[in-house]
Amino acid sequence: MANSPHCAPALEVTRRDALRALGATAAMVGLGSALAPSLMAQPTPASGYTLGKLEYPYNALEPHIDAATMEIHHSRHHQAYITNANNALKDHPGLLALTPHELMANLDRVPEGIRTVVRNNAGGHVNHAFFWQTIGPAASTGKPSAELSQALEAAFGGFDGFKTRFAQAATSTFGSGWAWLVIKGGQLAVISTPNQDSPHMQGAQPLLGIDVWEHAYYLRYQNRRADYITAFWNVVQWERVSAFHRAAAV
Ligand code: MN
Repeated sequence: MANSPHCAPALEVTRRDALRALGATAAMVGLGSALAPSLMAQPTPASGYTLGKLEYPYNALEPHIDAATMEIHHSRHHQAYITNANNALKDHPGLLALTPHELMANLDRVPEGIRTVVRNNAGGHVNHAFFWQTIGPAASTGKPSAELSQALEAAFGGFDGFKTRFAQAATSTFGSGWAWLVIKGGQLAVISTPNQDSPHMQGAQPLLGIDVWEHAYYLRYQNRRADYITAFWNVVQWERVSAFHRAAAV
């Protein structure tokens, strides 16, 4: 039954019913309420996903990430993932009733005929909506919290050890994908995902991610992905990453 295309929840299903039908855990439901409103994954309106406004202007990450890249990346690439996901999900209100995070964690319940397009495009929406929150102006990057610093020390031997591991994962991702700092099974880990696959697909909570699709860096850095990765550290918003860590660690 798990993969049946006929198991999509009925039209009148509520979000909580949908969660129950999908066997969502209390922890998954609880995560949203533990986050500040700006960090919270919102339930999706029946009309589908919408593109959120960035918390900063497109030119705010110059010179590390250029304004043209930010504008095209947000207003065209991210919007395209949203449009494609909404088209795929328009006859599936029970799936839209989930937060996109919950949807990504339960792709086996998406009808097979739309599963790949949902994986790629709802995944693209989830990944980018997260990414925009963890980068910002270089002047406001802050520092990892004491708790996150301790966790990075325990997992990677320190902040520099973490940066080396993360950069290696970002550099070695072949083709298009992402590198992530995640919490999985209560442990910090660095992972990479291909295409628009989401850490939520493997039960991991992202704390930080870097988009290594060429569209994320090609205008300024062309083939020099390593230079983009080096520049990325200048725009990571550590207080935000620390807030994700606090929320995921409870
Ligand atoms: Mn992207």
